[in-house]
Amino acid sequence: MIPLFFSCEKKEKVVEEPKAKNVIYMIGDGMALPQVFGTMLATGEELAFCQFPYIGVVDTRSASNDITDSAAGGTALACDKKTKNGMVGMDVDTLAMETILEALADQGKSTGIVVTCYSGHATPADFYAKVPKRSLYEDIAIQMAESDKLNVMIAGGRKHFDQRKDSLDLLGRMENELGWKIYDTLAHIDTTCMKYAVLADKGHMPKASERGDFLPEGVKTALKTLSQDEDGFFLMVEGSQIDFACHAADSVWMVDETVDFSKAVQVALDFAKADGNTLVVVTADHETGGLTLIDPQGHYSNVAFNYSTRSHTCLPVMIYAYGPGAELFTGWMQNNEVKARILKACGFEPQVVSTEMDQEIAPVVGNFDSKPD
Ligand SMILES: [Zn+2]
Repeated sequence: MIPLFFSCEKKEKVVEEPKAKNVIYMIGDGMALPQVFGTMLATGEELAFCQFPYIGVVDTRSASNDITDSAAGGTALACDKKTKNGMVGMDVDTLAMETILEALADQGKSTGIVVTCYSGHATPADFYAKVPKRSLYEDIAIQMAESDKLNVMIAGGRKHFDQRKDSLDLLGRMENELGWKIYDTLAHIDTTCMKYAVLADKGHMPKASERGDFLPEGVKTALKTLSQDEDGFFLMVEGSQIDFACHAADSVWMVDETVDFSKAVQVALDFAKADGNTLVVVTADHETGGLTLIDPQGHYSNVAFNYSTRSHTCLPVMIYAYGPGAELFTGWMQNNEVKARILKACGFEPQVVSTEMDQEIAPVVGNFDSKPD
């Protein structure tokens, strides 16, 4: 008797989607739609955010509070879980979480951070450090120095390295033992070197009107270095002081910072447009200032900036995306969903777009979630 074989193999038709080789993840600290649109009204110009084809909304609430701080907000943007206010890179049980920077470093990509605050301030620290309190700046500096996942840091915050309470010469250790080159300005950097820190101020960088093009130029510098990696790169950029300006209810400063961040976003977009393999994602950790754009006289004619608080609010923020996988960043999402979407855009969770059975085989009933070839 001739055995009868049934072919139960199913064939999956996988639509090859372009994958992001490089990721530029940009965070405007405290920047929700009022800061963006208020800046456009004040300057009479469009900002880089208007060029993004895909836009979504991010719920910024933390695990402990409806209103997040930058530590919990940035941790959720960098990792997979929400955490409590004040915590950096740790979940609510103080377990360390893997950040998107670390996940992509493990995939062979070079990584960098460019910000205008301390290198160890909450948002940048959220991408490489794990501490239960954001104020542990000297511990965060040691974790940065010892990180084998971080290639480039461009920031302020030099005092946490060379004016430490424990008198440790951390900059010396970084140069002599840990393979870093240290600079104090963006001028004359050897961009072919794959491990350096530019610590350009002892504290936060000066405000936008005084620091010039540090942020956009810092992004250009980091891109020159990181784009040498054939496996791609991950770069995090923060417009750190939009938040500072809104805490101070200083609209001139807020507009300057938002314009400056927009210039940095433009540098990233120009790189991505020319490169074709780069995903740019721009969002915020939270809104600051409860900013509204009102006419105080109620005549609907003159727009004034009105800050309803000197603190943060729980107003959801926008997320803007360009490049391969950008369509994943639409709709309403939680802040702790962004990491998975970036990984997916990079092709680390291949997406089966359509599945179809071999024509000769009868439809299969039941669960089959086999992976594409
Ligand atoms: Zn703040």
